[in-house]
Amino acid sequence: VTRNIAAAIDFGGTKTLVGLVDDTGEILAMRRFSTKIADLPEIHFARCARFIEECLHESNVSFRDQVLGVGVTVPGLADSLNGLLIHAPYAGWRNVSVKSLLQSHWPNVSVSIANDVNACALGEMFFGKTSYKNMLWVTVSTGIGGGLIVGGRMVEGEQGIAGELGHVVVEWEHPNVCGCGNRGCLEAHASGTAIAREAQKRISYRSDSRLAAYFTKRAVDVTAKHLAEAALNGIEEAKEIYRKAGTYLGRALSYAINLLNPGCIVIGGGVSLSWELMEPSVKEIIKGAVIGERNKRIPIIKTDLGYEAGLKGAASLVFSNQLEG
Ligand SMILES: [Zn+2]
Repeated sequence: VTRNIAAAIDFGGTKTLVGLVDDTGEILAMRRFSTKIADLPEIHFARCARFIEECLHESNVSFRDQVLGVGVTVPGLADSLNGLLIHAPYAGWRNVSVKSLLQSHWPNVSVSIANDVNACALGEMFFGKTSYKNMLWVTVSTGIGGGLIVGGRMVEGEQGIAGELGHVVVEWEHPNVCGCGNRGCLEAHASGTAIAREAQKRISYRSDSRLAAYFTKRAVDVTAKHLAEAALNGIEEAKEIYRKAGTYLGRALSYAINLLNPGCIVIGGGVSLSWELMEPSVKEIIKGAVIGERNKRIPIIKTDLGYEAGLKGAASLVFSNQLEG
């Protein structure tokens, strides 16, 4: 029997996924449950362990003989060396020793922990359709996150905050205030939240516009998703908001491309509907703002890791630790 299975925990702000993932990225068993942020971390990770036990039973896997270790991704800061969750802003948890919580359930098991977006980048390298050893992962969702793979390794930086593409400043003249406290960050101009806010602003300024009429007629909330539908229905102002967001994204990506010369850029997060609306302006900006012919034509692809990207990322932490011995 070979130990080629990782137990994986993708701890999210609203839901947590746990499961067993083999070294080809196949999910053998999985459980999904709501993260109760009022819970103590001990209770949460005990629940994770219990669901992993269910997965082991269901897929007939022996933890002792077949599982290499446990990989954990967290929506925040992690100290991978010491298996520590430093800060999870959603839950308000600080300095939780995830390693000792899990080892109280499985003594001596190896525990790897990382920020979720960084781990997604690693998961893409292990299990995705690309084979580049230099890669930039971008999650475009309610916020914007970035993960870096350089020379086949996940780059975390001195404090674990490397790759924060969402907080690269892209607008200096008319900056929006960002959740981080700075102004003009990419996240404040191109995230789903920022896109929705821009649409709401325009509608309140010009209540006689086609955009306003579209939303009045349908009586739906002005969200990024509904705005994308408006764009696909031919509402020019909606398209323009997405083009502008794409321009900002292109600016941030061009800085990263010139610095890192990645083989490709991988887009994840809930952007399936809206990526096509941003793509042309993203590519146009990159073409004019990077050096090198290959950089100008850099492949930008949507991840195929899907909804379970974070879970596969967590598993890849276990397999990459094994490679490093
Ligand atoms: Zn910011």
